[in-house]
Amino acid sequence: MPVRKIVCIDEDKCDGCGVCVPSCAEGAIQVIDGKARLVSDIYCDGLGACLGECPRDAITIEEREAPEFDEIAAMKHVARTQPKPPVHACPSARLMSFGHPVSPAPEEHKSPAAPEASALGHWPVQLTLVPPHAPFLKNADILLTADCVPFAYPNFHRDFLKDKALLIACPKLDDYEAHLHKLSQIFAQAQPDSVTVLRMEVPCCGGLTQLVRQAAQMAGVMMPVSEVTIGIRGQVLAAT
Ligand code: SF4
Ligand code: SF4
Repeated sequence: MPVRKIVCIDEDKCDGCGVCVPSCAEGAIQVIDGKARLVSDIYCDGLGACLGECPRDAITIEEREAPEFDEIAAMKHVARTQPKPPVHACPSARLMSFGHPVSPAPEEHKSPAAPEASALGHWPVQLTLVPPHAPFLKNADILLTADCVPFAYPNFHRDFLKDKALLIACPKLDDYEAHLHKLSQIFAQAQPDSVTVLRMEVPCCGGLTQLVRQAAQMAGVMMPVSEVTIGIRGQVLAAT
C-alpha cells in the first residue's frame, strides 16, 4: 500500500462541533458518536481543505500507508449522503457578533409607526449551525426559542431578545437527538448563566424544555431554566 498524505483527527481535542464536516467536499469527515471521524481513507484527498476550519486544532495531515484517493468513489459517496449543497457554500454559518442594534429604516424614512431596531446580537441563530465554542454563548443568558414563536409573538425583539444569546429550534420537526447532543456540548463549554425557553402552547412544543433539562443533565451543569409559553394568537399564556 502506498504511503501518502491523509487527514488525522485528534480525538482528544475534537469536541464534535461538526464545523469541519461541510469543509470537506469529498464528504470524508463525519461526526460519529460525538467525534469527527474519517469515514473512509479512499474519500480523503489529503489536500487539507478541512485544516483551517477546526477551532480546536484537532485536524492535521499525516503521512501513512493508505489506499489511494478515489475521486469517483468520493463523488458517489457525496451524491449518496449529501444531496444538498454543502453548508460552506453559504455564509449562513459564519460566526458574527454585532455591537449595536440595527435600525430597520434609514433615519430620514423613520415614522412613529416604524418598527424598533433589531435586538439580535449575533449570527447564526439556528441551533444546528451554532458551534458550542461560539464566543457569544460564553456565560450568556441563552434564549432558546421554538421556530414558530417569533411569528406568533409580535414584540419578540423588544420583550425577549434584548441582551440574550439566541438559539432557535423546532422540537417536533428537527432531529431531537442531534439537538440534544449539540445543546449538551453548548452547556458544557459555554456554561451559560441562564436559559429561557420560549415555546408555543401546542403540546409538542414542550419538547423544547425537555431538551434543555436533558441536555443540562448530560452536561452536568446547573443553571436557572425558565419557560414562557406563547399562545397561537400571540399572547403570553404562562411563565414559570
Ligand atoms: S471542527 Fe475540529 S472539533 Fe469540530 S468536529 Fe471537526 S475536528 Fe472535531
Ligand atoms: S413544535 Fe410545533 S409549535 Fe413548536 S416550533 Fe415546532 S412546529 Fe412550531
